[in-house]
Amino acid sequence: MSKVKTGSYTSEAVRGFDHRTAMEEAARCLLCHDAPCSEGCPAGTDPGKFIRSIRFRNPKGAAETIRENNVLGGVCARVCPYDRLCEEACSRTGIDRPIEIGKLQRYAVEQEKAFRMKVLKAPRGRKNQGAVACVGAGPASLALAAELAKAGYRVTIFEKEKKAGGVLTYGITPARLPQYVVDQDIAAVKGLGVEFEFGTEIGKKITAQDLIEQKGYDAVFIGAGLWQGRSAGVPGEDLKGVLTAVDFLKEARTKGGYAAMKDKTVVVVGGGDVAMDCATTAKLSGAAKVAIWYRRSVEEAPASMDEIRYAHDLGITITTEFAPKAFTGKGKKVEYAEFTGRDKKSSATAACDFVVLAIGQTAEDMSKITGASLSGKGCIAVRKGGKTNLPGIFAAGDIANGGKTVVEAVAEGKEAAASIITYLKKKAVKPAKKAVK
Ligand SMILES: Cc1cc2nc3c(=O)[nH]c(=O)nc-3n(C[C@H](O)[C@H](O)[C@H](O)COP(=O)(O)OP(=O)(O)OC[C@H]3O[C@@H](n4cnc5c(N)ncnc54)[C@H](O)[C@@H]3O)c2cc1C
Ligand code: SF4
Repeated sequence: MSKVKTGSYTSEAVRGFDHRTAMEEAARCLLCHDAPCSEGCPAGTDPGKFIRSIRFRNPKGAAETIRENNVLGGVCARVCPYDRLCEEACSRTGIDRPIEIGKLQRYAVEQEKAFRMKVLKAPRGRKNQGAVACVGAGPASLALAAELAKAGYRVTIFEKEKKAGGVLTYGITPARLPQYVVDQDIAAVKGLGVEFEFGTEIGKKITAQDLIEQKGYDAVFIGAGLWQGRSAGVPGEDLKGVLTAVDFLKEARTKGGYAAMKDKTVVVVGGGDVAMDCATTAKLSGAAKVAIWYRRSVEEAPASMDEIRYAHDLGITITTEFAPKAFTGKGKKVEYAEFTGRDKKSSATAACDFVVLAIGQTAEDMSKITGASLSGKGCIAVRKGGKTNLPGIFAAGDIANGGKTVVEAVAEGKEAAASIITYLKKKAVKPAKKAVK
């Protein structure tokens, strides 16, 4: 993987393909009839088809295939775990190595931008099939909204933050996912006529049911994600300087880095991509020393090898098989992170100015938003197609699946859109003139 020198928080970590490399890579494709790579993509982005277009020098065709099937194709090209999805399924793997599908997808989306192609267009004349409200502007809602808008439904997304994107805008580090990539995908959704209301938290003054009963929406989709940092359940978590990953990353994304960490020592607890994002964010924010502590081995870590390597490249250390025991310090400020070894005999102590807990996220209190049944973990319980136990209320993405990936949130958003269309057709809704903006 070719890296650019990463000097600042917003520098991109990985270079994309230039035209020549993209053509060479596309030429390696075996053009399989059954295209197992396309089967391997949860969102149906159809790499078999878009790689064929690139190979035959039709970048517009490639961009069209990507956007029509996956409106977040630019984001997915950067953050998908391709090695266990489309690339794992690639027939070329048995010969030498898989086609670099993610990079080819990125190339096609970059061509779309460079040549100002407008590949998705709002349907001519509003068909006015019905009005749907979405809670949250993350990948699940964005994918669902695009599908419904294409089918002629009026969609309004209510988002509590100032910008759309969810974790894409307020979580994943810009070194892996620059904001302009997120914005390009969001522009494709807006171009379909989807409306956004920012700074509106559903569940505060108005519930999902009120959106139907008082505001006249025909259905509501909940794509609220997981925004509660999981606690380590050890003493000292309330000390100043102990942060949850979601709060830390959100502040860094909003302010262009986490200035308070400059020249400081940071301990990150966790072994997933979120932990790697926290560690690289701390380092690129100017921290003098960043150390990751993980309770299992590197082989067991859920983080992708690329992210672990990138952390290593930045000089971040990873200590494995140690779990947090306590955070301590004189007064109210954290000074030490104490750990117990997996063998239950060893122990270790690390001096630090900050601790970032990247050990998972859970749902916020969903009962404020909806009376729909919840699962054991406080997520919204759904059946196939994102149906909840309440008529007209649907949910998908992290808040329903307990936390997976962007491409799975897109796939579930698309499925929920199909399910809403079926529901509204059965209900034979009247035109949506009653919907209040
Ligand atoms: C740090 C981090 C790194 C990750 N890295 C990767 C990666 O590399 N690859 C990958 O595929 N996946 C990654 N993931 C997972 C991926 O980001 C999620 O699976 C995906 O974003 C889920 O999409 P979503 O739409 O369900 O929810 P979210 O992206 O969480 O979006 C939910 C939106 O709802 C809004 N909201 C919540 N409550 C309300 C309310 N009451 N009213 C209005 N708005 C509300 C939130 O503000 C947010 O904008 C990562 C996750 C994190 C946290
Ligand atoms: S969206 Fe992700 S999984 Fe699907 S083809 Fe593209 S890179 Fe592969």
